[in-house]
Amino acid sequence: MKGKKTASERPSAYWEIQGKQARLSLALFFMLFLFYLLTSGILTGIVFITLGFFLPTFNFLTPGALLKFAILTLVISTAVTMLNFFQAKKEGVRYILNNLGAYYPDPNDRYHLMFINVLEEMKLSSGLPELKGYVLPTVNLNSLSLLDVDGRPAVAVTEGLLAEASRDELEAVVAHETAHILKGDTQVLTLVCSLAAFYEKLFSASQTKDEDFRQDSLFQTQKQQTWSPFLYLGSLFSYSLISFLIMIISRNRELLADATAVELGRHPEALARIIYKAHLANSYLGEASLFTPLFLVPPDSREISDSLWDRLFNTHPPVLKRVQLLAGMGHKTLKDILEEIKQQESTRQLARQEISSEAEMSEEKKEAIRQQKEIAEQQLEKERFWLVKTAENKWLGPFNLGEVVSLPYFTPAIRIKNLKDNLEAAAREFPQIRFALYRQIKNQPLEAELAARCPSCQSSLSDSFYEGVKIKYCPVCQGKLVNMSDLEKIFARREYKFSEKIKEQAQEWRQIIMEPGRRKKLMLKDKSALCPLCGLQMMVKPFNYHLIVPVYKCLKCQVIWFEADKLEILQTIIEDRSKSSGEERKTGSFS
Ligand SMILES: [Zn+2]
Ligand SMILES: [Zn+2]
Repeated sequence: MKGKKTASERPSAYWEIQGKQARLSLALFFMLFLFYLLTSGILTGIVFITLGFFLPTFNFLTPGALLKFAILTLVISTAVTMLNFFQAKKEGVRYILNNLGAYYPDPNDRYHLMFINVLEEMKLSSGLPELKGYVLPTVNLNSLSLLDVDGRPAVAVTEGLLAEASRDELEAVVAHETAHILKGDTQVLTLVCSLAAFYEKLFSASQTKDEDFRQDSLFQTQKQQTWSPFLYLGSLFSYSLISFLIMIISRNRELLADATAVELGRHPEALARIIYKAHLANSYLGEASLFTPLFLVPPDSREISDSLWDRLFNTHPPVLKRVQLLAGMGHKTLKDILEEIKQQESTRQLARQEISSEAEMSEEKKEAIRQQKEIAEQQLEKERFWLVKTAENKWLGPFNLGEVVSLPYFTPAIRIKNLKDNLEAAAREFPQIRFALYRQIKNQPLEAELAARCPSCQSSLSDSFYEGVKIKYCPVCQGKLVNMSDLEKIFARREYKFSEKIKEQAQEWRQIIMEPGRRKKLMLKDKSALCPLCGLQMMVKPFNYHLIVPVYKCLKCQVIWFEADKLEILQTIIEDRSKSSGEERKTGSFS
């Protein structure tokens, strides 16, 4: 067995790896230089020949011209290699991590904590002096290892993987990535991907900046693809560069890493299960496909067959072959592994706690909520005693304090009227307004006594956990306030299941979303909803580009207010989508 042999090669001390890394990066530098020498040789050759064609006095084949040619080629290729290489070393990893949106695991999050613990154990059993962790914000399943900006080895896993993997599977994944680090693959691949990232960065910079791709912008279309010839040439170039460099590194390294992972973690069947699960699920990672060789399974794992062509150009061996080999190491068959996955899934389904819809609440409860909302509405009405004068000298209102300050045309110089005290003046003359603005600058809620009130029914919100994520929750109307950065976690995790009623609504929404004419049906009532954190007016915006469902967002606090059932319906839609992921690959981006 190959695995036995490689185990003895496993470097026991970190300095050995670093020595290996230095040699490898020197070798890479040289290969890169050869590559550029060849390309610049051809390019300058073309220039010289063209010159000879137009200038009869210029003879390409004289020793003088040949010397010039050689010097020029050498200078160009050395300069480009140095530029590419040092740029990659300096910024490549940061670029990759930014591109993937990676963040550190949060010890307050149960799922992340398990990852932190597994990393710590692996650090000890592998003898690595350090092993950093990163989490990637997507529900899709994948992992990668890389050398961080500071040169320390790191393992990154997706939220989807943390949600789907059992503890032994997570251990197996971290062991697989650690195996890559121990074998020096990580060092080489990080460098290779950093080199390629150099080009990607160049081309994204050359692209016309069509729009600021922020998660909040109102009605964005998909990011525009400007397919300029320059871009095409560039991506072709970086693709050939990457393929060329990867050819140097044996394609067997995935299988070798699997074997070493088994020695480190002793869970061949767990690794087999998670690789198969990642293969079945969606492993798509957005525009990060350039970094394909870094991942546990290729981001488009379905398309790989075992033909000679694919073997030449693919960075990963076919998934089923890997799973079979691993199953064999655990004295099991592929069928056993599939059976285990099925068993695991049904156990998990049984453990899920069911959430029912607002519509399924008892009549008394519904009536109580209705009354509460009415009282809140009346209360809110009493707070609306501000009128605002527009540029056309018209009085608008009445508004409450939060609504006034949130008006798009609000400035401290605007004329306003306080109906309660019957005063009219510039906004800045009113102490209430001044105090509200002061608190806003201090990042405090506009009015302390209104903080943490439910935007829908004005009850006080309580802190709670949902799918392992900290949220604010309204015990009366069941609304939820969620940080935008926590959405992927919620959509990846499966602690709850949803009642038939919620599933029905999800089905209805799905149809409405597909028919633009009917989308109005989902529109929110035009009423004010103040952010429980800052007190400013929340904005009604589509949830994202795929799910054009209006929700309340506060862009300042980066939170979304979901009224009763809304989040659960979206979860149902997304869960169904990722089940039938083949045709819907792009569900990865939520924010
Ligand atoms: Zn409420
Ligand atoms: Zn806010």
